[in-house]
Amino acid sequence: MQERLMPHFAERKMPVEMVVLHCSAFPLEKCLEIWDDYGVSPHYAIDEQGELFKLVDEKYRAYHAGKGYWYGREGYLNEGSIGIELVNMSLGQTPDSYTKAQLNTLIPLLHNLIKKYNIKPQNIVGHSDIAPALKADPGLAFPWEKLAQHGIGRWYNSHRSSEIKSRDAVSLLKGLGYDTRDEEAAIASAYAFRRHYLPEEVKFDPDRQHLLDNVYPKNDKSLLTGEAFISALNRLSD
Ligand SMILES: [Zn+2]
Repeated sequence: MQERLMPHFAERKMPVEMVVLHCSAFPLEKCLEIWDDYGVSPHYAIDEQGELFKLVDEKYRAYHAGKGYWYGREGYLNEGSIGIELVNMSLGQTPDSYTKAQLNTLIPLLHNLIKKYNIKPQNIVGHSDIAPALKADPGLAFPWEKLAQHGIGRWYNSHRSSEIKSRDAVSLLKGLGYDTRDEEAAIASAYAFRRHYLPEEVKFDPDRQHLLDNVYPKNDKSLLTGEAFISALNRLSD
């Protein structure tokens, strides 16, 4: 691990209970420059070669997540979280874009954090899970299922058939932590949910800037329906 300490942090007022995963489509040196300009920083960054960089000590609150919502907590979720940024030139969009070397660094780091802070599986999240209307990272190619096979994060058994107990997507999403405070938030959350659990239902956007400006299809109420979607919600809610 290399230390490249950044000055963008403050005292924590609550214990760590969450890890937020991000990605950035710039080489690490460029990321450091950009973050410095904006006065932000994650705690850790992992480049495509799997090199781990420590940027802010875990005991401090780093500026990485901005405004968000998760299980009823709203506002700046930096307070109780650790941020990890992965360099990924496709913004986590193209299959296998996260390198083996990156995952070989990320998985033990997450194991370590989970153990150290007793982090619940549902609190290992993507930035898009907690800010679904604003953020698309770490993207539809982020290997959540593979991480779950290593005991990291929340997942469901896609092979086991499960009884559909509810078709009320909004209530189910809310029960799983997502922002459903109004219909538009629920639509954005439904798309973020697909990014995390049903990536085959998320459209690849070859235009990076377009993706950053349009992280979900606005006003598309059909996102609150769909067999695979309702089924996945029910399985996770079991
Ligand atoms: Zn992010």
